[in-house]
Amino acid sequence: MYQANEKRYSEMTYNRCGKSGLLLSAMSLGMWHNFGSAATYANMAEMVTTAFDLGITHFDLANNYGPVPGSAEENMGRILRRELRPYRDELIISTKAGYEMWPGPYGDHGSRKYLIASLDQSLRRMGLEYVDIFYHHRPDPDTPMEETAAALDQIVRSGKALYVGVSNYTPEQTAKMAGLMRALGTPLTVHQPRYNMLDREFFEGLEETLAKEGMGSVCFCPLAQGLLTDRYLHGIPADSRAASASPFLSENRITEELLAKVRALAEIARNRGQTLAQMATVWDLRNSLTSVILGASRASQITENVAALQNRKFSQDELDEIDRILKA
Ligand code: NDP
Repeated sequence: MYQANEKRYSEMTYNRCGKSGLLLSAMSLGMWHNFGSAATYANMAEMVTTAFDLGITHFDLANNYGPVPGSAEENMGRILRRELRPYRDELIISTKAGYEMWPGPYGDHGSRKYLIASLDQSLRRMGLEYVDIFYHHRPDPDTPMEETAAALDQIVRSGKALYVGVSNYTPEQTAKMAGLMRALGTPLTVHQPRYNMLDREFFEGLEETLAKEGMGSVCFCPLAQGLLTDRYLHGIPADSRAASASPFLSENRITEELLAKVRALAEIARNRGQTLAQMATVWDLRNSLTSVILGASRASQITENVAALQNRKFSQDELDEIDRILKA
């Protein structure tokens, strides 16, 4: 059985999630890709245990991660049972509901019926009594926000989640939900927005609201699904996300215009003694955010990305040059 590295807490940084008592590792591991039904157990288990050995305590899932939907949670359940059972109290496991998960009117969006049934399913798939963070995955314009807020409050009071958050909510929606939750007596602890060098507006537009509401931020796609790495500099590798069946990153995103920027960014990274993946990861962390959720297809990527914490400082010249490249 796996035995965790005794020095796992020596290098990682832990950031307070807003004004809550929750500390999150500055880097988290996400299971949106490469943890589905076609993935091999050995590779998934190696990624999770490598992450944990490096001090990553936070693992991010959703009901629909796969494919097939639900299979990432089932696989995480296996890993928790076989490898991580003694370490449950050292782990933050998050899941979400908000996108289509099962047929009919109750398997999508933001109703009390959907959120509570979905979390019960997630707990069964992972073999857990509770998750640490439960998110409403996206805003639902048709369900009254009061109902979604009441469902999140009920979920915390029932002990099925310790903290709750939202993802993909605009600043206005976030402020409204935070106010509703405050009135119910259960804080809205965290927001999960997209944030990376190529896609920065959404999070930067949210920062003020999150600070005002005392919420933390856990950002997804810090490497723009692999575009902000050296993965595509010499063609499209057969084992990459762009070459895979994933509908979320198609080969036509990889244009000459993008590659010119990526090459220029990689040059700055090289001068810092980093890979582009490393620089892109810590560039996100220069900001106020609590944690970045990295994706990975192999353990070596996690090791490489966590090592980026050794050089987190940017000079003003580096930041200006990065902005110049991105705006070109
Ligand atoms: P990233 O932007 O970090 O992209 C991960 C991909 O980048 C990997 O699969 C790998 O691609 C490549 N990569 C990672 N490290 C390296 C490296 N060192 N060198 C070269 N390539 C590297 O994140 P994801 O897009 O995977 O998203 C991360 C997580 O965010 C998800 O798992 C999920 O938990 C969360 N998320 C949440 C959303 C929401 O709506 N709340 C939406 C999307 C994601 P390859 O596979 O080609 O090797």
